[in-house]
Amino acid sequence: MTYKEKLKDPRWQRKRLEILERDKWRCRACGERNQIMHVHHLSYSKSYSPWDCDNSELVTLCSECHYIYHNFYSRILNEKLKYVVAFFDEYFFNTEA
Ligand SMILES: [Zn+2]
Ligand SMILES: [Zn+2]
Repeated sequence: MTYKEKLKDPRWQRKRLEILERDKWRCRACGERNQIMHVHHLSYSKSYSPWDCDNSELVTLCSECHYIYHNFYSRILNEKLKYVVAFFDEYFFNTEA
């Protein structure tokens, strides 16, 4: 099973929805709500299937931020995003209540 095939697996689709619901369908990097949302892996181990990933390692990003994170930012910025996401957790959940 290739990674691409795994992303079509119902187990990942379920996990993905769980993350989108948790993040209220809102980009965790810029707060955007009106774009197509992606679920991004902050860390990825090849031995795992995408759905085996811990929820804390997954974030909702809009397609724009997702593109940026994959194409311009390094691993270091993934670490930074993780920190930012943790920091703003309260903010996101309080404003969307
Ligand atoms: Zn965004
Ligand atoms: Zn990604």
